Amino acid sequence: MTAGDLSGFDSAVALLYLAAAVSFVLGLHLMNSPAGARKGNRLSAAGMALAIALTVVVLVHDDVITGTGAGVLAAGLVVGGVGGLISARRVQMTDMPQLVSLFNAVGGGAAALIAIGDALPHPLRDAPVRTTIPTVLDVLIGAITFSGSLIAAGKLAGKVSGSPILFPGNRVLSVLLALVALGGGGVVAGGNGGVPLLLVVTAAALGIGVLITLPIGGADMPVVISLLNAFTGTAVAMAGFVLDSTPLIVAGALVGAAGTILTLLMAEAMNRSVLGIMKGGFGVGDEAHVAAEGAGGAVRSTSVDDAALQLAYARSVVVVPGYGLAAAQAQHELVELCQALEAHGVEVSYGIHPVAGRMPGHMNVLLAEANVPYTQLRDLEEINPEFPRTDVVLVVGANDVTNPAARRPGNPVSGMPILDVDKARSIIVIKRSMASGYAGIDNELYTDPKTAMLFADAKAGLKQLHTGVQAYVS
Ligand code: NDP
Repeated sequence: MTAGDLSGFDSAVALLYLAAAVSFVLGLHLMNSPAGARKGNRLSAAGMALAIALTVVVLVHDDVITGTGAGVLAAGLVVGGVGGLISARRVQMTDMPQLVSLFNAVGGGAAALIAIGDALPHPLRDAPVRTTIPTVLDVLIGAITFSGSLIAAGKLAGKVSGSPILFPGNRVLSVLLALVALGGGGVVAGGNGGVPLLLVVTAAALGIGVLITLPIGGADMPVVISLLNAFTGTAVAMAGFVLDSTPLIVAGALVGAAGTILTLLMAEAMNRSVLGIMKGGFGVGDEAHVAAEGAGGAVRSTSVDDAALQLAYARSVVVVPGYGLAAAQAQHELVELCQALEAHGVEVSYGIHPVAGRMPGHMNVLLAEANVPYTQLRDLEEINPEFPRTDVVLVVGANDVTNPAARRPGNPVSGMPILDVDKARSIIVIKRSMASGYAGIDNELYTDPKTAMLFADAKAGLKQLHTGVQAYVS
C-alpha cells in the first residue's frame, strides 16, 4: 500500500497509533527518575488506553467483529480491566512483587494465545515465514513466560519454596522438552507443520518455563524475574507481528528492551552470568543449604535504650533497609527517627543494595514514598568505602544483602556483592528473630562481636527508638 492508498480514516488511525507509541516512549523516559515516575506511568497508561480504544474502533469499522465476537471482546475488556484495577488497588506493597510476576504471566500467556488463536482459522502449513516465524516465537516465549512467571509468583508469595527445587531427571527432562520445542518449532516455522504440532510446542514450552524457574533460588531470583519481564515484552512484540499491529510491536519492544537492560544490570550487580543462571547451576549444590560457616557464635542482643543512646551519640549513621522494612511498612517510622538524628547533628545516609527487598528498586520506591531525599540514597559502590568510617550502621530488616558468607564459595549467596556492613565501627540490627532471609542461610553478621541485635518488629522497634533518641537529644 502506498501513502496515496490510505483513506482519511486509515490516516487518522495511523496518526493516533503513533501518538500512543510516542506516549509509551515519553512515559518510560519520565520513569527514569522518581520525580517523574507517576506522570510517566499515567502517560503510558493513557497511551495504552488510546491504543485499545483505537483497536476496537478499527475492528468495528472493518466489520471484523460481529455480534458474538463483539460480546466476547466486551466481556474480555470488562473482566480484564476490572480485574486489573481491583488487584492493583487492593494489593499491599509487600505483595507487589508477586503481582508483577502474575502480570508478566498474563502478558506472556495472552501473547501465546493470540498466536494460537490466529493460527486456528489459517492453515500454518505452507504459510509464509513472515507469519510462521513470529507465530512460533510468540508461542515459545509466551508459554515459557506464562508458566515460569507463575512459579516465580508462587516463590515470591511463599507458596512455592524459595529455595532451589531440583528432582532426579530434571536436567534430562529439560533437554528433552527443549528438543521438542525447538524441533517442533523449527518444523512449523519452515511451513511444514500445522496447529496440532504448534500445540505440542506450546506444551513443551510450558514445561520448560516450570523447569527453568524451579531450580532458581537465593540471589539468582531477581535476575530471573527481570528476564521473565523481558520475555513478556518480546512475546507481546511477536504477537504484534502476528496481528500486524504496530502499537503491540512498539509496546512489546519497549518492555522487551527495558527488561533486557534491567536483566543485564541485575546480573552485573549480582556478579552472575544470565546463561549460568538459566543453566540452573548456581548455588544448587549439596552445600547450598548449609548454614554460613562461622555463624554459630554468640549473639549479643541490645535494648531500645542502649541502641537509642548509641545512635544519638554517633557522628555518622548509615541505614541499611531490607525486605523486613517493606514487610513491616515501617518506612515512615524510619524517616522520623532519621530526621530526629539529623536535627541533633548526626550525619545520616541510606545504603541501598540493588536486590534488597523483593523487586528491583524496592527500597527506592519505599523510601521515596516516605519522601527521603534522593540525594541521601547511596548505592552499593558509593557506600561501601564509607563503612570503615561509619560509627553506627542501622540494619532494618535486611539480611542476605549484608551476609559476609557471600564472600565465600559454596552457598546460595556466594559471589553476590554485599553491603560491607561488617566493616563499620558498630552495627545495630532490627529484626524479629534469628530467622534467615530469602536465601535460607544463617547470617554471620549477627554473631559479629560488633553487632547488637534489637529483636523487634521494624515498625514498633523504630517507633520506640525514635522515642528513646528524643529523650537523649531534647
Ligand atoms: P532478606 O529476605 O534476606 O531478609 C529479610 C529479613 O527481614 C528477614 O530475615 C526477616 O527476619 C526480617 N523481617 C521480616 N519481617 C520483618 C518485620 N516485620 N520487622 C523486622 N524484620 C522483619 O531481605 P534482604 O532485603 O536483605 O535481601 C533480599 C533477598 O531477596 C535476597 O536474597 C534477594 O536475592 C532476594 N530477592 C530479591 C528480589 C529483588 O528483585 N529485589 C526478587 C526476589 C528475591 P525476621 O523474620 O527474624 O524478622
